[in-house]
Amino acid sequence: MIQRFESLRQKIRKDGLDACLVFSGINRNYLSGFTGSSGAVLVLPKETVFLTDSRYTLQAGRQVQGARVALQTATLLQDALELLRKAKVRKAGFEAAHVTFLQYQWLTKNSKGIEWVPLNGTVEEFRLIKDAGERKAMREAARLADRTFHHILPFIKAGAVERDLASEMEHYMRLQGAEGPSFETIVASGWRSALPHGVASGKALEKGDLVVFDFGCLLDGYCSDMTRTVCVGKPSAAQRRIYGIVQKAQAAGCKAIRPGVPAGAVDLAARSVIRRAGHAAHFGHGTGHGVGREVHENPRVGPKCPDKLVPGVALTCEPGIYLPGKFGVRIEDLLLVTETGAENLYRTTRDLVAL
Ligand code: ZN
Ligand code: ZN
Repeated sequence: MIQRFESLRQKIRKDGLDACLVFSGINRNYLSGFTGSSGAVLVLPKETVFLTDSRYTLQAGRQVQGARVALQTATLLQDALELLRKAKVRKAGFEAAHVTFLQYQWLTKNSKGIEWVPLNGTVEEFRLIKDAGERKAMREAARLADRTFHHILPFIKAGAVERDLASEMEHYMRLQGAEGPSFETIVASGWRSALPHGVASGKALEKGDLVVFDFGCLLDGYCSDMTRTVCVGKPSAAQRRIYGIVQKAQAAGCKAIRPGVPAGAVDLAARSVIRRAGHAAHFGHGTGHGVGREVHENPRVGPKCPDKLVPGVALTCEPGIYLPGKFGVRIEDLLLVTETGAENLYRTTRDLVAL
């Protein structure tokens, strides 16, 4: 954490700033290790201050290293401003994507003599490359997703309700030590499998349904994100054919992941398999996204995305084909870019499972 504060200090100095205010939850947590819901990191020229209110000072004292924990006495912004003035700061950065219009208005009105400079994605940029500890945490979160999928298999049968399956998965993840699901669990069966984001409903599974399970856990602050599509009973020839195309596209996308390639190349590798099979119109979303403390973070993995992959980046590969009114198929893996290629964090089969 101390290193993260120092990296941020060096970065803002390079940009000509004396200080920086971070109060968005995930970035604050990444920099400081603090898991509470309110606080701010203030990187000043000579020290780093962690501001929080009395509900959290004890917790911050235990969790935050490399920063002085200060008790918030007014609002976070008022206290931060006070500290900036004491440190004689003239130019300070703020997180443009995480400050409300009202907060910005208040800051510009009340901080005469201090110039506020919008920072866009500065901390997010640090978060892009996972260090050894983060990689370990992501492997663990992925392992738990693997186990959750295996746990749910015996529950999948005609008559089982989507919502009940989702609850069973989320309950299991918590029992296994997860803080919770990393996003609202998707269980979409039959015609609903053609909804790319079909959050579990009251629909019961029927014989012949394809069922898309898209789920993940938050474990020790890091997310997993996995999709598998299974069949209740024997799949039809059409279901098998579409599944085969998605499986091929997904494998092609995974194979394209290596350092130096732009994220768009991964999208292209997967998308061209689907396009060649005549289903370009049935694959509307990007092929993947970065994963870390948040389930959706940088890089974006869509058509023509220029961001170059580098070792330590974690991303998903999740193409799908959705046939409205009929069925849909998606397969999603989570991969870590390595020095020479990529490490797939899942062990679960990508073949069509029929139950
Ligand atoms: Zn997913
Ligand atoms: Zn995903």
